[in-house]
Amino acid sequence: VKKQRKARSQIYEASMLGRTHRAAHIEARLLDAIEADRIEPYYQPIFEIDTRRIVGLEVLARWRQSGGDFVPPDVFIPIAEERQLIDALSERLLKRACVDARQWPEDIFLSFNISPVHMETEGWERRLMDILGQTGFAPSRLQVEITETSLASDLPAAARALAFLQKEGVAVALDDFGTGYSNLAQLSNFSFARIKIDRSFVAPLLEDERQQKIVRLMVALARVLDVWATAEGIETEEQLVLLGKLGCRYGQGYLVSRAVPSDEVVALLAAAPLG
Ligand code: C2E
Ligand code: CA
Ligand code: CA
Ligand code: CA
Repeated sequence: VKKQRKARSQIYEASMLGRTHRAAHIEARLLDAIEADRIEPYYQPIFEIDTRRIVGLEVLARWRQSGGDFVPPDVFIPIAEERQLIDALSERLLKRACVDARQWPEDIFLSFNISPVHMETEGWERRLMDILGQTGFAPSRLQVEITETSLASDLPAAARALAFLQKEGVAVALDDFGTGYSNLAQLSNFSFARIKIDRSFVAPLLEDERQQKIVRLMVALARVLDVWATAEGIETEEQLVLLGKLGCRYGQGYLVSRAVPSDEVVALLAAAPLG
């Protein structure tokens, strides 16, 4: 047993070392990648569950290495946040996304993730409006997705910035709904246009009746508060149908489409309702 434990701890140390090494390697190239615009916006459709009509697209950052593989955003976003590169990354990404989205039909919105670290920088909301001005993208077509972490450190400042954006016509969505500790408190503090039900609730939906009750409750709560619910991570036809029955109006997930590059969006939008 002792020998086994030792072997296991060596494996653990090796993988830890691998991770740190990888992070350092990524960190060294991240700034270059940002400046060379090698981190690109991909777009995942958000659709109406009943009709499967696409109503908007969420920007998901993709960093493709010269060899062709991708570094996942779950890896490089936290590094960008730590190294104070998230503002530059996010602003360049938004600018490109607005330019892309100007070619889409006017009733299609663009949804953009805002990092909590980015929200801590003074004036981020005004710079965001500047980007809309520069690219000629209508504020009423933009939705920002924030997580409750953004409201944790300085609620008054975050609320002021979001109220400013709302006054300019930008919609605010609460991402990863249901995963935090104070989602309900956030709902009472702030008027969100949408809540995004985290995919950890969608995945076990068919096997687990309790999960169905919880999702039904989240959707009902959204309804009472006049907020639209969007379910993330819909992978099967059965999940889609059940979410519709539970009263959820919008969805997102691999069943309809993964995130695709800009040149494929136009084709997605031109096609008949998907799925
Ligand atoms: P998120 O905002 O919750 O984005 C949803 C994630 O779920 C995306 O992963 C998306 O590709 C994935 N997903 C969508 N549909 C399905 C499905 O049917 N099944 C499964 N298994 N997954 C699905 P991705 O693109 O790897 O992004 C991960 C996270 O990285 C995002 O989570 C977000 O927190 C962050 N992120 C991505 N792009 C950006 C960005 O431009 N800015 C910021 N601040 N964060 C970003
Ligand atoms: Ca999101
Ligand atoms: Ca999410
Ligand atoms: Ca998530």
